[in-house]
Amino acid sequence: MTVVGIDDSDSRERGMCTTYVAARIAERLRREGAEVSRILLVRLNPAVKYKTRGNAALAIHTDCASDVVFSYARELLEELAETDDERTNPGLVAADHDPTAVPEAVGRFALEAIRDHLEIDDAAGLIDECGYRSWSAGNGRGRIGALAAVGAWAALSPRIEWTYEYISYREPERWGTPREVDAESVFAAAAEGYPDVWDTVDRGEGEAVCVPHTPGPILHGIRGDDPDAVRTVARRIDCEPVASSRLFVTNQGTDVHLRNARDADEEIVDGWAYRVDGRVVSPPETRRGGHVFVTLELESADADESDDSSEGGENGRRLECAAFEPTKRFRDRVRALRVGDRITACGEVARGTLKLEKFAVRDLVRIERVTPACPDCDRTMESAGRDQGYRCRTCKTTAPGKVERPLERALEGGWYEVPPCARRHVAKPLIRGGFDGQVHPER
Ligand code: ATP
Repeated sequence: MTVVGIDDSDSRERGMCTTYVAARIAERLRREGAEVSRILLVRLNPAVKYKTRGNAALAIHTDCASDVVFSYARELLEELAETDDERTNPGLVAADHDPTAVPEAVGRFALEAIRDHLEIDDAAGLIDECGYRSWSAGNGRGRIGALAAVGAWAALSPRIEWTYEYISYREPERWGTPREVDAESVFAAAAEGYPDVWDTVDRGEGEAVCVPHTPGPILHGIRGDDPDAVRTVARRIDCEPVASSRLFVTNQGTDVHLRNARDADEEIVDGWAYRVDGRVVSPPETRRGGHVFVTLELESADADESDDSSEGGENGRRLECAAFEPTKRFRDRVRALRVGDRITACGEVARGTLKLEKFAVRDLVRIERVTPACPDCDRTMESAGRDQGYRCRTCKTTAPGKVERPLERALEGGWYEVPPCARRHVAKPLIRGGFDGQVHPER
């Protein structure tokens, strides 16, 4: 077996897409009589600044000899990669073994490429150590993604349930022109395929999220849990002629980028993505641009629920969380939080702020303490002076202190998420299941 990893072939302005290069390599291998057992589409750390769009790297698993695949892949990368763009730095790594047989260090490298930031030298050193064949152009950065793609099958198979994307490509002469896709047929196909097929459309925004707006070769990409289901949805879409299509096995929709911040004292690192437990300590605030911010005081994941020592929010570590404008209706969920609520928040931390991808309501404040109303005239009482309770000036009634009133809440317990139009590739849609609690999926 041979595993070939490739990355970094496209440019933001000029189009192209590394999935297309991988599909072309696979096509050539099949033409030459080799078997391609799968193509992996691996989403790496979404916080990496070098990415063009979705930080994807690709791996092809085949029975073809590694030197042969290597030369095909190099030829196609040289032909297709947009190397005139100085930000495009293609990389290629070929490993002469089964995808499950990667050295432990390569598996670790793959996981780090998803959760952390790596250097070109880290990749180059490990490629040498493993005796892998490699090629790169430009500054060689593409070798990071290419090596991560080689290690991904072994590293991720024990951690995630792989998902699928069925990508249909445009005829090359149409690249860069508006896509002809019948939106009604997309919505109908998406409804038929749901919930095995997800993130095809955003019904709230009326958007066909499976159709990209960038100049590249992709016509549409259909994502889901089942290979037949994604294929069926793709075929139901009425659109311009499809030049070719390909099924990819992916880590999209898996949350594999998140790490648990178990201990409230743990350092929170910029560029890493977390699952944190905390208590809301400031009322949600909508700032300029429509972005909504809320501050949490972090709690240890195994904190005793009855332990109120962290209440008051004076001493604990605080973390600002944000739901940015593009997360649309999700912001209403965040605005519905109140001081005292306990939640689990998930997202990437950038410049000290966690960019919310989803959150779980663990405990809602259900009672508020308010100034009492006069039992005779029903008007709100006034303070009778410091520590002297309340009184009604007109009726002369008194009350010893504030009274408790049940609070109407617009939230329930369980998980809330950003809508499909704002979903990061690697973030897990709630409809996929496996969450600890009730879910409120967006579609
Ligand atoms: P493409 O379709 O070309 O793959 P993309 O949005 O996936 O577009 P790339 O153009 O591949 O982005 O750019 C990402 C670059 O960052 C690649 O060179 C890749 O090797 C590198 N990279 C990926 N993950 C990491 C990481 N964790 N640390 C450092 N560099 C990384």
